[in-house]
Amino acid sequence: MRLGVQDGRAVLVRDDRAADVAATGLPGDPAVLLERWPELRERADGLPDDVFDLPIDHGAWQAPVPNPRQVFAVALNYPPHAAEAGFEPPADPLVFTKFPTCLTGPRTTVTLPEGPGGPTGVKVDWEAELVVVIGRRAHRVPEDRAWEHVAGFMVGQDLSERVTQSRGTPAQFSLGKSFPGFGPTGPVLVTPDELADPDDLEITCLLNGEVVQHDRTGSMIFPVPDLIARISAVVPLLPGDLIFTGTPAGVGNRRTPPRYLGAGDELVTRVQGIGELRQRFRSKGAPTAARPGWR
Ligand code: ZN
Repeated sequence: MRLGVQDGRAVLVRDDRAADVAATGLPGDPAVLLERWPELRERADGLPDDVFDLPIDHGAWQAPVPNPRQVFAVALNYPPHAAEAGFEPPADPLVFTKFPTCLTGPRTTVTLPEGPGGPTGVKVDWEAELVVVIGRRAHRVPEDRAWEHVAGFMVGQDLSERVTQSRGTPAQFSLGKSFPGFGPTGPVLVTPDELADPDDLEITCLLNGEVVQHDRTGSMIFPVPDLIARISAVVPLLPGDLIFTGTPAGVGNRRTPPRYLGAGDELVTRVQGIGELRQRFRSKGAPTAARPGWR
C-alpha cells in the first residue's frame, strides 16, 4: 500500500491514480490513520480499482506524516560513512532527534540559514536516508517482532548545518539538524510488502545531477529491526513516529575539498521502490521561487 497526502488529506495510491481515503470509511487525517493502521491496511486491500479515480499531481505531495510526536535519527550507521567521519563503527546506535518543526514534504525550496557572520557562517550538508514510520506502539520489542510495528518507509533528507551541529563539547546534533525545512520526507509512505527486499534498498543522492552518495540499506550497521529493538528498549515508539536510519558515505563535509549547499543547488534523494525528494536552496532574502509545485 502507498499512502500520500495532498491538500492536507490522505490518499491511497495505486499505479498512477489515487483514491480518497474516505473510500475506506476512515477519516482523511494522516495522524488518525496511523493510529488505526492495521484497520486501514485491511480496508485498503479490499478497495476496487474504480475508486482510484483521482489524478496524481507529483508536484503537490505533502509530508505523509506531518506531525509525528517523536523523530529519532541515527548517526554513523553505514561503515564507510563512519570511516570517512573518522570513527570506528559504533557498538551502539548513536541516537539524536530532528525536532518535528523541521519536517516538510518531498519537493521544497529550502532557505539557507545565516550564521553570526552572515551566509558564510554556515555549512549546510546533505544526508540521504531511509525513514521508518511506526504503525503500532512499540515498547521493549524484540528484534524478531520489530517488523510488526512498522507502518512503512519514506525517503528522507537529514539536512545538517555542520557549524551548529559541532558547536560545543560534546557536539549537539539535534539543533544543527532542525533548521526550518531541514527534514524533507516522502514522497509517499510505502508499506514493506511493496518492496522487493525491505532490508536491502538502493539509496542515492545527487547534487546538481552528480551522484554524491550511493549505497544499499543492507549495509547498515544496525538494520531496521535492530534499531527498533534498541530504541524501544528505552522509549515507547508511538504510531507515526519516524526513525531516520542514518546516511551512507559521501556527505559534503568529508569531501576534499569540502562541499556545502549554496543558493541555486538542487539535491535529489532516491530510495529504490519508494521514490524521490527534490530540494532547491536559496539565500535568505532572495525572492521565493514562484514555480508551480515548489513550496
Ligand atoms: Zn543523518
